[in-house]
Amino acid sequence: MAERIVVIGGGYAGLAAVGELRRLSDVEMTLIDPGEGHELIPELPEALRRHDPIEEHIVPFQELLKDTGVAHLKQRVANISQAERTVALENGDTLSYDWLIVSPGSVSSYPPIPGLEERSLPLRNAHDTWRIKDRLHENTHQRVVVVGGGLTGTEVAGVLAEDHDVWLVEGAPRLLPALGVGLAQYARERLQAAGVKVLMGQKLVRVEEATLQLERDRIHYDVLIWAGGIQAPRWLRNTDLPLDPKGYPMTSPEGRVSERVFAAGDVWRVWVGNQEVPQTAQLATMAGHYVGEAVTRAMRGEPLPEPFKPRLRGMLISLDPGIGVGWVIRGGIPVRGSSARTLKELSFQQYRLKLSRVFGRGWPFASV
Ligand SMILES: Cc1cc2nc3c(=O)[nH]c(=O)nc-3n(C[C@H](O)[C@H](O)[C@H](O)COP(=O)(O)OP(=O)(O)OC[C@H]3O[C@@H](n4cnc5c(N)ncnc54)[C@H](O)[C@@H]3O)c2cc1C
Repeated sequence: MAERIVVIGGGYAGLAAVGELRRLSDVEMTLIDPGEGHELIPELPEALRRHDPIEEHIVPFQELLKDTGVAHLKQRVANISQAERTVALENGDTLSYDWLIVSPGSVSSYPPIPGLEERSLPLRNAHDTWRIKDRLHENTHQRVVVVGGGLTGTEVAGVLAEDHDVWLVEGAPRLLPALGVGLAQYARERLQAAGVKVLMGQKLVRVEEATLQLERDRIHYDVLIWAGGIQAPRWLRNTDLPLDPKGYPMTSPEGRVSERVFAAGDVWRVWVGNQEVPQTAQLATMAGHYVGEAVTRAMRGEPLPEPFKPRLRGMLISLDPGIGVGWVIRGGIPVRGSSARTLKELSFQQYRLKLSRVFGRGWPFASV
């Protein structure tokens, strides 16, 4: 009988794993994802722009998986039982598996700040992007406050500065902890030149209707975007998977959670030495390919590959129009300005190209 492989989540990790595993014959593969398509999440801040339709950043599963033999089940997983080798869906159905890959991405995390979760909008997926776009009016008087000066918050502030009165609030005394001090300083100067008011070194205390209370200042907002951090999906706590204190699955260095269950993407905490690797689409894609290979070997009774050691190619973010900042190549060559932006756009195109190759489709999948 064909082995049943179930993949939870058709994001960067899940699709990379499916791409690897679809080479196997005699398997029955199901991708479970509640969405219509693969969301190109790193492109979503760009989709906040007035004339940039969100649909252009989603590759429909129907198109992607056509003639691949992989079934898309448009459902949300609510629970996993390793003991029974089943996943429970939100509609009450249950699905059995022989091999399971858990890659549902992450969700926004909220510190216990009164009013924050109820009054702010997160940006984690296409649905969130629609909600934010719905609230944005095309004039510069509307004040958008972005809380969180990491990669997402900084990028969103830069994109919105074109059309809005944007404030970026960060509790730490600097932006972009994932980049060096010089690059972070450059990003701040570019944002300020584009009209963004950058407030650093003040923690958020309380969110009231239309007003933010910081440690020292009070500021008015019309739209509040929360880009303050991520965590593992809460429903994982209902499962019988072993979890670490933060709620992430505990894995071997090969991403294995138990004999027949593997994790990939944002839910797999990857360490190099004693440094945790930041969760990115790049890491998730590499992890997905790796775990696809690991499951293939496990199915054949072969030893697993060498422990996962990702070789990141860079980290780039967009700032104001035509400008970006980040680093490329292992070892980290800093890049800034229009070259950083061009490299970032190239990386988006490369990903689309790779996806179309892996799934045997024509180029391009969706145009940008
Ligand atoms: C605004 C923003 C900008 C970013 N920019 C960059 C960037 O420039 N470069 C970069 O490398 N990274 C970037 N990232 C990070 C990157 O998007 C994530 O690290 C990456 O998407 C993680 O891949 P994943 O496969 O784990 O999860 P995702 O890509 O999030 O995919 C998870 C999938 O699982 C599905 N799912 C969720 N819950 C369930 C469930 N219960 N049952 C079934 N399916 C489920 C979802 O619908 C989704 O399709 C950005 C993130 C954000 C939010």
